[in-house]
Amino acid sequence: MRRHRPLQPLLFAALIACTALPAAAQRDIRFESPQAPTSGTLVLAVPQVADGEARDGAFAQIDAASQGALSRAVAAAAFTGRADSQLDLPGIAGFDRVLLVGAGDGAPDARRIEDIGGHVGRFAARSKAPRIDVLWEGAEAGAATQLAFGAALGQYRFDKYRTTRGDDEPAAGQGELVVRSPAGAAAAQDWDGDWKAVAEGVKFARDLVTEPANAVWPEEFVARTRAAFAGKANVSIEVLDVPAMERLGMGSLLAVGQGSARPPRMLIVRYNGGARGEAPVAFVGKGITFDSGGLSLKPGENMWRMKYDMTGAASATGAVLALAGRRAPVNAVAVAALAENMPSGTASRPGDVVRTASGKTYEIISTDAEGRMVLVDALWYVQRQDNPRVIVDIATLTGAIVTALGNDYAGLFTRDDALAAQLTAAGEAAGEPLWRMPMHPGYGKMLESPIADMRNGGGRPGSGTAAHFIGEFIDAGRAWAHLDIAGMAWRDGNELSTTPAGASGYGVRLFDRFVRENYER
Ligand code: MN
Ligand code: ZN
Repeated sequence: MRRHRPLQPLLFAALIACTALPAAAQRDIRFESPQAPTSGTLVLAVPQVADGEARDGAFAQIDAASQGALSRAVAAAAFTGRADSQLDLPGIAGFDRVLLVGAGDGAPDARRIEDIGGHVGRFAARSKAPRIDVLWEGAEAGAATQLAFGAALGQYRFDKYRTTRGDDEPAAGQGELVVRSPAGAAAAQDWDGDWKAVAEGVKFARDLVTEPANAVWPEEFVARTRAAFAGKANVSIEVLDVPAMERLGMGSLLAVGQGSARPPRMLIVRYNGGARGEAPVAFVGKGITFDSGGLSLKPGENMWRMKYDMTGAASATGAVLALAGRRAPVNAVAVAALAENMPSGTASRPGDVVRTASGKTYEIISTDAEGRMVLVDALWYVQRQDNPRVIVDIATLTGAIVTALGNDYAGLFTRDDALAAQLTAAGEAAGEPLWRMPMHPGYGKMLESPIADMRNGGGRPGSGTAAHFIGEFIDAGRAWAHLDIAGMAWRDGNELSTTPAGASGYGVRLFDRFVRENYER
């Protein structure tokens, strides 16, 4: 059934891997007390004030040192310090550059401080200054850490494959970022032992999603996951290859992968930081390393972006990487259901009947409804092997959810009101919002097949019927939710300060927060 793997594409991929520049280093972040430096590149967060109202603190000092040039520039630009505003000033007093970032009206909450940090990070990624000092004068507990977290997310860049930078040109985005605040160096503990790991989980997911499909396919996803978890305590990694999945009867995941020269995999990462024997929290991600649609081929426009169709798997794995990195007192498991969906002489056809590991059968109506196909075998496996206390699956599943919710919310599907409330609150706190969608019992009717137990699609709403299909493979009474993140995984011209254009890594922060608030002892 499977073809020999052609040598040429693999050699070519290996060649790319060898010749590419190393990925740009992110700036290291460290913490200091709030004395303002008098030279170099300074970022100053300034609260919003009414027109003409004087400012104190570092602003006043720099203004005096510059004979009022700072306040004249601010007045001329009508900069008030409103949230999401910035003023970039070269050559003020002894500084090469002063960037004013608006901190907005009133006392900023954690989310706003993170956003401000995101703007700092965006600036830091473009700047060639070897050191950037960021001054935060507010006394809020944890502000320095929140600022650093936002900056770490905002400074993300991926220029591994660029070769056009001149040799004599220093790379932007390298060096260090010094957060100066009343918390001083004490903030480092909070950062190193905790939030830095979450930022690294997001970066892991973004890197995997950004990588093209000729660099990351199922086996390579596994290899990169192994590398990321190397040296992390209390972690075990299990990988099911094709023969193993055949033995387990995973006809559903295998049906998706069988058209590709690159064989599918199921990757299970277990992190046991909690009590021995305590049931884990499970995150199950759709990991289609490229979705052409299969024989139900997608239109050509924007097909390139379908490298992003493994975001769910990357975010589930990245979330567990974050938990392991910050040594969270919890047991958690990530399952990545990995396959490449390609049309070929060995590909699944519309009309094929597939037997899942659970024994249930379905008729393929569209080979482009492959996400639910890989997920159901992964969900079956994690329920049998790990008996999770709660399962959340995450997938770039349907275009219909983008029609419904745009790029502002991921769709949340669950029949469990308490779980819905937990996830919604976690999404709100983490800046990865969810909107609950209905799961009408009538959706099942639309998935009936005359020759099998179900069909893999059909009927409207497309996102709700997809959720219903997945739900058919969840044990009665098990806490389960499904997240459709098709509108949230990739940003294009609508970036946020903490989420630059491209791969968002949506889900890592949400899952980390969900675990933090509900499952840590
Ligand atoms: Mn598809
Ligand atoms: Zn897909």
